[in-house]
Parts: sequence; structure tokens; C-alpha cells
Amino acid sequence: MDGCVFCKIINKELPATVYYEDDKLIAIKDINPAAPVHILIIPKEHIINVKDIDESNEQILVDIHRVANKLAKQLEIDEKGYRLITNCGKQAGQTVFHLHYHLLGGTDMGDKLL
Ligand code: AMP
Ligand code: ZN
Repeated sequence: MDGCVFCKIINKELPATVYYEDDKLIAIKDINPAAPVHILIIPKEHIINVKDIDESNEQILVDIHRVANKLAKQLEIDEKGYRLITNCGKQAGQTVFHLHYHLLGGTDMGDKLL
């Protein structure tokens, strides 16, 4: 999608620190981390947000959770706890309109929203 920062990262037109990549998704370091571990798990298909998930593309949610589990183990936050969240729409705080999940951990996050 033209002008989409995550599509540019997926197409290697913009740099990113990549933690995981396969044919369906990519996981990168957030450029402005809100926690010691802050990874964005992003489907390669340009889906705007979770409200555009239906029977045709819902498998990606399973894939995202599988990669989140794998990365949480790899980065040793799986036992202590982590947060896996997605913002859907402007009022929720979504700023990049290409579906992504934030994997956050490595600190006590208390009641922080992100
Ligand atoms: P959201 O507010 O849920 O849409 O989250 C968008 C996230 O993307 C924010 O946490 C940003 O810091 C992050 N972000 C924006 N541009 C980049 C980029 N070029 N590389 C990595 N992360 C980015
Ligand atoms: Zn995109």
C-alpha cells in the first residue's frame, strides 16, 4: 500500500531491526519502545486493523500468536509475563493503519495501557 510505513519495511524500502520473518509476517523492534521489549508483529498483507479480519484472513491471528509465543520464549519474558495488544482505530490510539500487535515486556507494566 503506497505511503504505508509498515509496507515499506516489509518491502525493504525502510530499515528495521527484524526479530522474525516468514512469508506471512514480520516482527520488528518498535522505533519508540515503551518497554525494554517492544516488538511489533505485522502481517505482510496490508490489513488496516482487526475490524478487517474475517473468514478469509483470520488465520493470520493464529500465526501472530504463534510468533508472539516464540519471541516471548526467545527473549525470556514468557514466565515473567508480557502484554500482546493491538489498537483498532484512532480513538484506541492506532497511528499506523496496517494491522500490528505490540509485544511488550521486560518490566512491570502495572496499569499502563501500552
Ligand atoms: P499504534 O499506535 O498501535 O498504531 O502503533 C504504531 C507503532 O509503530 C508505534 O509504537 C510506533 O513507535 C511504531 N513505529 C512507527 N514507525 C515505525 C518504524 N519506522 N519502525 C518501527 N516502528 C515504528
Ligand atoms: Zn501497509
